[in-house]
Amino acid sequence: MKWVIGVSFGELMLKGKNRMTFVHKSIAQIRKACEGYEIGRHHFDQGKLFLEANKEDFPAIIDRIKMVFGLSYVYPALMVEKNYDAIEEGIKELLKDDREEKRTFKIQGNRADKTFEHNSMEIAAKVGGLVLKNFRNYKVDVKNPDRMIYVDIRSQAFLYYDRHKCIGGLPLGTGGRALLLLSGGIDSPVAGFEMARRGVEIGALHFHSYPFTSERARDKVKRLAEKLSIYVGDFRLYNINLLNIYTAINKNCRERYTTVIARRFMMRIGEIIANKDRYDGFITGEALGQVASQTIQSISVVNEASSLPILRPLINMDKSDIIDIAEMIKTYDIAIEPYDDCCSFFAPDRPVTKPRLKDILAEEEKLDIDALVKEALDTLEIETISVGHEDDSFSND
Ligand code: ATP
Ligand code: MG
Repeated sequence: MKWVIGVSFGELMLKGKNRMTFVHKSIAQIRKACEGYEIGRHHFDQGKLFLEANKEDFPAIIDRIKMVFGLSYVYPALMVEKNYDAIEEGIKELLKDDREEKRTFKIQGNRADKTFEHNSMEIAAKVGGLVLKNFRNYKVDVKNPDRMIYVDIRSQAFLYYDRHKCIGGLPLGTGGRALLLLSGGIDSPVAGFEMARRGVEIGALHFHSYPFTSERARDKVKRLAEKLSIYVGDFRLYNINLLNIYTAINKNCRERYTTVIARRFMMRIGEIIANKDRYDGFITGEALGQVASQTIQSISVVNEASSLPILRPLINMDKSDIIDIAEMIKTYDIAIEPYDDCCSFFAPDRPVTKPRLKDILAEEEKLDIDALVKEALDTLEIETISVGHEDDSFSND
């Protein structure tokens, strides 16, 4: 008899010819997510993964695994031999601390090993009998049980009830690569998380205006990136100084167009980086109507600056929903620190809300775009963001 951690994969895992590639990626991500805890051997048993670890670490490890993309459930399971004597001993162990409180239960049997002598209904009936025999406080209720007890017959029998739903999504790296425009705000880290959840591998591009913006502002962005890397894996953070571009826009162009023109520069610069380092598109944290610059007209003018697709996973979301996710991934507290990124200093009092491309192009005529882009690219600094879990962000509270 042995305690293990069971993991079931999302639907995608069960189908298709890339299945084993996904499984291997997931195992690597699970191991990375569990850094700091000792994970022993793992084995794969007819579509499910079982990991060995110290029992006292189970709650913390399960908290980590819950946030790995592409999984459906994680649970502490008791692995026993697949005969009813062993299963009875297992049930006694599984429920041993639960002899007082009155409970209703239902057994969910599953026969993954089709050679096992009983089918799932029969397994449920038999093991139900074993629970009743050993636990006077348990009563059957198949409609609305307090506790669902799973009995899963594979190469061994796995018994569990404490099943945790995982965050879902698709395994990282199965959805291409995209460059996240990462400001110091609340929205963009959430946008990166949401696309990574759909399997997109990310890089992040941040524009600062040093020395106009402080070293602390940049450090804030790095800390946001580090939080994100807990979920999205290691990634590259590209830092570009946009101060000269802002200064040039400020000096030459009509003020109300500042934000849109700056955003178009971000896309042009981003496209060069994307082409060089093989990103298939961009991710931004824009939500329609959240601020004056986030209108369909602005979006379409910004789209015009680059031929790469721009993914905007927050486009229809309310701020409060975005904040909920930021809190879940623990980027919120960092994002609300008061150090500004470049945009707020130069943000016009009354920005244009429905820019027309021809007006923007006329404004941009006043600038030497190629030279400004090149000059900005010369300021490029790249950091690799990779974080262990040495902080307590996943303490089991
Ligand atoms: P956020 O909370 O992400 O800062 P926001 O609501 O402040 O977003 P904007 O300032 O209009 O909205 O920015 C919209 C998007 O443009 C951001 O979500 C981000 O993807 C990108 N962006 C804005 N400023 C920067 C920057 N300094 N560096 C990189 N990307 C940026
Ligand atoms: Mg912002």
